[in-house]
Amino acid sequence: MKLVKPYYEILTDISEGAKDELMHIERIGRVCYKSEDRITEDGESAKKFVKMLINNGHEAMIEHSFLSVKFTTDRGVTHELVRHRIASFAQESTRYCNYTKDKFGSEISVIPIDGGLSLDGKAKGLTGETLQLIIDEWCSAMEDAERHYFRMIELGASPQIARGVLPNSVKTEITVSANYREWRNFFKLRVPMSAHPQMRELTIPLLKELKARIPVIFDDIAITE
Ligand SMILES: Cc1cc2nc3c(=O)[nH]c(=O)nc-3n(C[C@H](O)[C@H](O)[C@H](O)COP(=O)(O)OP(=O)(O)OC[C@H]3O[C@@H](n4cnc5c(N)ncnc54)[C@H](O)[C@@H]3O)c2cc1C
Repeated sequence: MKLVKPYYEILTDISEGAKDELMHIERIGRVCYKSEDRITEDGESAKKFVKMLINNGHEAMIEHSFLSVKFTTDRGVTHELVRHRIASFAQESTRYCNYTKDKFGSEISVIPIDGGLSLDGKAKGLTGETLQLIIDEWCSAMEDAERHYFRMIELGASPQIARGVLPNSVKTEITVSANYREWRNFFKLRVPMSAHPQMRELTIPLLKELKARIPVIFDDIAITE
């Protein structure tokens, strides 16, 4: 059994200061107001214009954008990701992937719960010793799941049947593509303390990076840690 830390990768190229991306939205949005003459080539008019769109709730204009992010996380988190209907997805399939094969290292990969535990409100009240016992219990359940999965495949079951014993913690990869409007909605729901801690483990650093690389678009979305 292999432990894989959760991480994300932004797959879409983003121009320096997201100047191209913001100017693209500006060019489209200014059609509404016939104010194309106010576009400046340094990208500054785009920042002001897009900020105005967001402040006024004219967010349909920022749908003219695109961002793909690949997440390596567990199946529990991806069940939540795929509820975002406006986004598009491609996910590693437990029907087609046979984790007993060499290409998967002949073992299952799981996402450790440690990161989620450190962000979990209830866990904050537990002693270090108790937290370790919880982690040990989880580890033992993962090993059991792996043993049963391998035995089922050995007996002739197909991966799509043997997957029945794979845990929520099994590592999976998923690519999520959406426009900025949908990403804004996503972060508003998946960054706050009310979101699942293992989701927040990914969304907090991702939102921080996007705030740094794409001005204006995500500025108004708060991060509480
Ligand atoms: C803290 C938290 C707890 C949750 N708990 C549960 C739970 O216990 N059980 C459960 O089943 N789900 C739960 N969910 C999932 C939740 O119900 C949503 O499915 C998920 O957050 C996707 O949100 P969304 O609909 O805004 O996103 P998207 O599906 O991406 O939609 C984006 C936006 O498009 C608009 N939209 C999309 N489809 C429609 C439509 N058909 N009609 C009108 N407008 C539409 C809405 O404005 C929506 O906000 C939870 C989510 C969160 C954040």
